[in-house]
Amino acid sequence: MSKVLIIGAGGVGGVVTHKCAQNPDVFSEICLASRNEEKCKAIAAQLSRPIQTAQVDADDVDALVALIESFKPDVLIHVALPYQDLTIMEACLRTGVPYLDTANYEHPDEAKFEYKEQWAFQERFTKAGNMATLGCGFDPGMTNIYCAYGLKHYFDEIHRIDILDANGGDHGYPFATNFNPEINIREISAKGRYWEKGEWKETAPLEIKKTFDFDGIGEKDIYLLYHEELESLAQNIKGIERIRFWMTFSDKYITHLKVLENVGMTDIEPINVNGCEISPLQFLKAVLPDPASLGPRTKGKTNIGVILDGVKDGQRRKIYIYNMCDHEKSYEEVKSQAISYTTGVPAVTGAMMMLQGQWKGEGVFNVEQLDPDPFMDRIGEMGLPWQVVELDPDHDPLA
Ligand code: NDP
Repeated sequence: MSKVLIIGAGGVGGVVTHKCAQNPDVFSEICLASRNEEKCKAIAAQLSRPIQTAQVDADDVDALVALIESFKPDVLIHVALPYQDLTIMEACLRTGVPYLDTANYEHPDEAKFEYKEQWAFQERFTKAGNMATLGCGFDPGMTNIYCAYGLKHYFDEIHRIDILDANGGDHGYPFATNFNPEINIREISAKGRYWEKGEWKETAPLEIKKTFDFDGIGEKDIYLLYHEELESLAQNIKGIERIRFWMTFSDKYITHLKVLENVGMTDIEPINVNGCEISPLQFLKAVLPDPASLGPRTKGKTNIGVILDGVKDGQRRKIYIYNMCDHEKSYEEVKSQAISYTTGVPAVTGAMMMLQGQWKGEGVFNVEQLDPDPFMDRIGEMGLPWQVVELDPDHDPLA
């Protein structure tokens, strides 16, 4: 019987709260806190059991500490924005509460996509005997755990990893992002990067394009992007030679994005408009559909997984581990589309692992450093079943 404090009442926060509420044997008391308490109350009203709500500015460590000291949670799930990672980690350290998030720390004024500042908490969490679990959404999150699970059960060494993220959903708008537009567009408009033979190789944004035939979705264009799990996997997967990340985008999405980039609407740096300092990207976020509003309109599936290529007992082997998630079924269950669902369900399952002692440790961990087995045993019944397909090691599906 444990108390969970959830910070952030957006798309993912809604799923996390629903899933915690569905598991009263693990999460006996829930508090959902966010910048705007009305959003917490709206989520609370969807549930069949009562929860507490609170207002908190998660950029303010003292305010977080006060909330934690009054609610006294056994674990904190941070699903506000990546800008709040460091303040929330600091508050967890000060109060001795275990921490879990789904995205690496981001600077509000410059996208860096790196774990450096969160890994810098290693010594303090270790000394305090406290645990921080980083990146426990889908990607990062499930994809890292698929790699750890593959390494434990299917390979002696993994040499190549391709992470494939496909969204076959259609929300009917000409252009909208499936999660926070500011975070999403920063990620996509950045230079591409992948890890090969001990060094990072850089590409122009969306320069490398392939096609891939996804189960449940069909053939889609996929683009090579940098994604944060590449950094930790390159360090933690023994024998790794290459890791790449691929995401699907429709021609319609790419055309809109190119136009917005060309006219400066994806810039973060504020500009002066009639005496007001306005960041074009934040303005764009304000005019685009709220990702939370896409839920009831989105049809189709997501398919996210990893292709692992390596060696077992001296023989080359290639396997594909993936999950398919249906947007409409997700909405039926937790009032959110599949992107938020596939992020929130691993976060709740990771928090369960921490509360029940199946994930234990002192320090800061990326999820591939933790035992994948109890997590994989639980994640199917939590809503994200997976499949393992043996591939021909001599055939390159991304050629
Ligand atoms: P949303 O923008 O929908 O929600 C963010 C929530 O955080 C909002 O309720 C927002 O409040 C709140 N918030 C923002 N700033 C503060 C603050 N200073 N103090 C308190 N609350 C604050 O985002 P998502 O739900 O889509 O994403 C949540 C997290 O999940 C992000 O970190 C995102 O990067 C991550 N993510 C991870 C994925 C993965 O697979 N690993 C995939 C998708 C998302 P308000 O409503 O007032 O704006």
